[in-house]
Amino acid sequence: MNYDFDVLVIGAGSGGVRSARMAAARGVRVAIVENRYLGGTCVNVGCVPKKLFVYASEYAGAFEEAKGFGVNGQLNDFDWPTLRDNKTNEIKRLNGIYNNLLENSGCTILHGSAALIDAHTVQVGEQQYRAERIIIATGGWPFKPDIEGSNLAITSNEAFYLDTFPKRVMVVGGGYIAVEFAGIFNGLGAETQLIYRGEQVLRGFDEGVRQFAAEQIAQKGIRIRTHTDIQAIEKTAQGHLLVTLNNGSQEEVDCVMYATGRRPMTDGLNLDKVGVELRKDGTIKTDGFFKTSVDSIYALGDVIGTPALTPVALAQGMKLVAQWYDNDSTELDYDNIATAVFCQPNIATVGLTEEAALAQYGDDVLVYESQFKAMRHTLSGLPERTLMKLIVQRSSDKVLGAHMVGADAGEIIQGIAIAMKAGATKAHFDSTIGIHPTAAEEFVTMRTPRS
Ligand code: FAD
Ligand code: NDP
Repeated sequence: MNYDFDVLVIGAGSGGVRSARMAAARGVRVAIVENRYLGGTCVNVGCVPKKLFVYASEYAGAFEEAKGFGVNGQLNDFDWPTLRDNKTNEIKRLNGIYNNLLENSGCTILHGSAALIDAHTVQVGEQQYRAERIIIATGGWPFKPDIEGSNLAITSNEAFYLDTFPKRVMVVGGGYIAVEFAGIFNGLGAETQLIYRGEQVLRGFDEGVRQFAAEQIAQKGIRIRTHTDIQAIEKTAQGHLLVTLNNGSQEEVDCVMYATGRRPMTDGLNLDKVGVELRKDGTIKTDGFFKTSVDSIYALGDVIGTPALTPVALAQGMKLVAQWYDNDSTELDYDNIATAVFCQPNIATVGLTEEAALAQYGDDVLVYESQFKAMRHTLSGLPERTLMKLIVQRSSDKVLGAHMVGADAGEIIQGIAIAMKAGATKAHFDSTIGIHPTAAEEFVTMRTPRS
């Protein structure tokens, strides 16, 4: 067969770029197609700009804290265009770096929208390219429920580029994006409500963590409204948004942001035409070797419905290349993936929740828990508290889960994830000498299980 490329990757996001670069490093001919922005969601409208906004949102709290230390500064003004545009410039710099990384690794970059023609052919613009193997890494896209006036609401995509910073915001949803953006808007001075349809935000997290985090978030000034949903949104004569809630009440805000999940981005790919099967939720069906229902077509990242996290997409890209070129016959291990929610304070977690451990191991579970005021807040006077939890299997002493709500939780849990990956027992934690004075040392000094 005559192919233009050995591998053609559709989508230059986290998973696509990593697999393209790794494959190119093996000396094969690789092309990557991108129709929007190099670096994908994470770099352009995800992890990176989000974290930059999170940093910005933490200064107001820092000024508050400083007073108790005798450091008197005042947050007089917040200039949204400066933050927005500095962020955009940084993203442009990263776009350039991705371009160089791809070019220097020998990949051909094709700008345009890809559509499958057959099992080996992809159309980009007017041109068709044939490849021995195709990787679909097209990621996801925000989903907005279909309510009256939903076109007046933004998603995280637009939140990064707002013309003016809103004074009053309603964020809808209770997942990662909703909780993080509520923290961003609140920290930057907007009157912020978090509207969630269920009982408690952050479904899927440890119940104790959910409860504790919700209390901390509310204490920061975010109004969390559970069992609440939006029925309709309309524009007022003054250009504000009039929101009708499910209890019939109406409220005026300046911005409604939907963070109600993301759907797999498969628009225009012609998957049905070439026989690539989807699940009911629209994600692409793959086996443990990322192969779709068509032999020469592979898929990875958010579009296959595995945990929607950049490090997962990166690991998948590397695994696929190892499976192809290094005779790696193993599948990717999805156990104990650590994640963090970058709200104030941070939430981070790895392994089983208390509820999942009890369901799996019944009585054979011990829970160690500590709630305390971090040293910083003894002088800051702020009411913020920290929660740490370790879930341990009684019989094996193995640490099954670690959870934290508190400053730098993401930084702390990353190290604990390594220990858990190495099979750490509670005895290992106990025999570890702490770093004093830190909050993290609490993870190695919890001695008595919670009754
Ligand atoms: P993507 O990065 O989405 O890349 C897909 C690419 O394919 C895009 O560039 C798209 O333009 C392109 N594409 C789509 N269709 C076509 C086509 N037909 N032709 C050509 N190109 C196409 N994860 C974390 O781990 N930590 C975080 O802190 C974090 N924060 C996030 C914050 C937000 C607001 C969002 C939205 C996501 C966040 N994520 C975070 C998730 C993370 O961004 C994704 O898991 C990750 O980007 C998935 O990578 P991917 O390669 O699967 O897809
Ligand atoms: P999530 O799936 O995490 O959360 C979606 C939220 O929207 C849930 O609370 C859900 O409620 C609610 N919801 C869904 N449909 C509706 C509806 N029709 N009406 C009202 N509420 C609704 O999605 P996100 O958009 O927050 O994020 C997508 C993914 O991106 C995350 O799951 C995560 O994997 C990744 N991400 C990771 C980050 C990180 O690592 N820090 C940061 C941001 C994103 P219910 O609970 O009732 O289903």
